[in-house]
Amino acid sequence: MEDQVKCWIRHEIQALSAYHVPEAADLIKLDAMENPYTWPEDLRREWASLLAGVDVNRYPDPQAHALAQRLRQAMDVPDEMAVLLGNGSDEIIQMLAMAVSGPGRSILSVEPAFVMYRMIAIWCGLDYTGVALNADDFSLDMPALRRAIEETRPALIFLACPNNPTGNQFAEQDILEVLALAPGLVVIDEAYAPFADTSFMPHLGQYDNLLVMRTVSKLGLAGLRLGMLAGPSAWLNQIDKVRMPYNINVLTQVTASFALEHQEMLDEQTLAIRRERAKLFEALQSLDGIAVYPSQANFILVRTAAAQAEPLFDALLENGVLVKKLHGSHPLLRDCLRLTIGRPEENARLLAIIREFLAHG
Ligand code: PMP
Repeated sequence: MEDQVKCWIRHEIQALSAYHVPEAADLIKLDAMENPYTWPEDLRREWASLLAGVDVNRYPDPQAHALAQRLRQAMDVPDEMAVLLGNGSDEIIQMLAMAVSGPGRSILSVEPAFVMYRMIAIWCGLDYTGVALNADDFSLDMPALRRAIEETRPALIFLACPNNPTGNQFAEQDILEVLALAPGLVVIDEAYAPFADTSFMPHLGQYDNLLVMRTVSKLGLAGLRLGMLAGPSAWLNQIDKVRMPYNINVLTQVTASFALEHQEMLDEQTLAIRRERAKLFEALQSLDGIAVYPSQANFILVRTAAAQAEPLFDALLENGVLVKKLHGSHPLLRDCLRLTIGRPEENARLLAIIREFLAHG
């Protein structure tokens, strides 16, 4: 069987590692940028009774009209723009890649960036170029980007704004230049928009090649798997052709619509996360032996002294806290960990373990 697997599975796929999700049972989970807050009991009951009325024998609304309308409002999509929904923004990245793939076609992003841009490019048989960010502040390296765009003529450019895993927002002027230089589509991935002060949503329509992608995952609905792409219908009508029929299941449609009816609760949670981010940032900054990078997202990137990221990661895990170890994933992330903002008591625990580690190793 091994031989057959070797023969038939594409070489690029054999060379990939599967997207790894660590076991997190009983741990304080600060690894995946989830919103740590749940819903109050009365709202959960109301939601449960709503779900009890759903007929799961029927296929869902294929266009998820009601939900799309709610998302447009919640995410300030300009009236003249179209939207397309995905089973997570991961699925939207895949649809985009499938729609542009073909011989000689390529995708470009920066490095380090969200790993799925590269993975999905490979799945879809596209070439992938990752242009390294500036090492000091993770800003866009514009001379390198200009060169790469000119040389590779990418069909698709992904920029996560704010960027994962670095947390910074790229300069608007630089993004506008990328939009002007790009021969193809530029997708601004605003997964972390709820925690940032700026958005490209108002720019939609000003640039023919601009699309804006959002997700409800970081907003507090990661379990639903729901993302949204907004942009001119000329593009979205084409991309819609590679969308799986009924890709947004009926439970997600009902639940997300219900949650967005209670958006003030999600907004409060987002605000609490932003406040906790400021507190954690300040506390981390006051520590010797750890460098902290400014963040516009719901996580903070930190760099330990040389060769200390692994032992700190292990110390956190031994004490019941799971964060993301980035050391080893990219040269620019040497000695780096990514800390998702949790509830106040979770952040306090995280901080206490880091303090103890720095004091005693
Ligand atoms: N874009 C970025 C920048 C992300 O960090 C993530 C998830 N970590 C996604 C997209 C995927 O989000 P979703 O849950 O909507 O698939």
